[in-house]
Amino acid sequence: MRVVVDLSRCQGYAQCAFLAPDAFRMHGEEALMYDPNPDDSQRDQVLRAAAACPIQAILVEQLEGPAMTVEARRS
Ligand code: SF4
Repeated sequence: MRVVVDLSRCQGYAQCAFLAPDAFRMHGEEALMYDPNPDDSQRDQVLRAAAACPIQAILVEQLEGPAMTVEARRS
């Protein structure tokens, strides 16, 4: 999955860092650092963090195309 945070809108509320500490981290008082490509195992946490952001600064794109799920089958 891919995560983009609009840092020009982020107010450093740290809700995301609290809910998904592996993907979002506060650096100092207000600067947010984040993983733009978190592992799918963090999906629930990241979605919860995005939903909790008071100003909806977190955009999550789920990259689930057929290429990732289709298995090659030969008979
Ligand atoms: S919850 Fe939103 S405003 Fe708060 S630090 Fe995270 S992205 Fe920024």
